[in-house]
Amino acid sequence: LVSREAKEENTIVHVKDVAIGGDEVTVIAGPCAIESVEQVMKAAEEVRRCGGKILRGGAFKPRTSPYAFQGLEEEGLKIMRTAGRFAGLPTVSEVIDEPSLELACQYLDMVQIGARNMQNFRLLQAVGRARIPVILKRGLSATIEEWLMAAEYILSEGNSQVILCERGIRTYETATRNTLDLSAIPLVKELSHLPILVDPSHSTGASRLVKSMSKAAVAAGADGLLVEVHPDPCRALCDGPQSLDPEGFESLMKELTPVAHAV
Ligand code: PEP
Ligand code: MN
Repeated sequence: LVSREAKEENTIVHVKDVAIGGDEVTVIAGPCAIESVEQVMKAAEEVRRCGGKILRGGAFKPRTSPYAFQGLEEEGLKIMRTAGRFAGLPTVSEVIDEPSLELACQYLDMVQIGARNMQNFRLLQAVGRARIPVILKRGLSATIEEWLMAAEYILSEGNSQVILCERGIRTYETATRNTLDLSAIPLVKELSHLPILVDPSHSTGASRLVKSMSKAAVAAGADGLLVEVHPDPCRALCDGPQSLDPEGFESLMKELTPVAHAV
């Protein structure tokens, strides 16, 4: 179902009034984790002001350490909904299991399956049964074929509103958090009709690299970006070093426009 042979024309995923996979480059932005009402409201305002189309933020955080901040859970989803309404932006947040999926469907417009859960097949099937748009991130060490087969699990249960997201893969390189696989963009476009986003934040782990990788992703044909933006990255509870501050995000958005028009 995910293959180009099964469906020739590009899939366009609609999240409220936002279309992903058409002619526009869609920028989804917001903090890594939902920390407080004030933090998400500020982020939402900046995302909106600079031209971001969808607000992101994690309420269920699958952290490497069980002692790291795990997210505000349902309270966080409520904050997201409020901030999204306030800024007039649709919202997306990661789900990690069926209970969190059920909650997210009540409060938000789109869900995300993170890299660590890309092959959580029961979760993929549950999202496939839920009628909600989904961002499916590439697993830490997943091949493109494994990633597309994960998407197939969602489509085969009846949900075709799937957007893929390249977020960097594990290589021997340690200078960046992950290695951004830019070739995945044209390859996925060749193999599948699904839209593809690039996450320049988790793929680099460094805010100073986000702008150049974003431009490269758009030049390579990405349908959009998933970017971490925090009102005060130094104080972020999660992923501060890779988060853009409002000025950084504004400057990214300005430089992205000519690149998007050139493709
Ligand atoms: C995220 O987007 O907040 C996240 C945890 O990303 P990933 O699953 O790509 O590590
Ligand atoms: Mn993060």
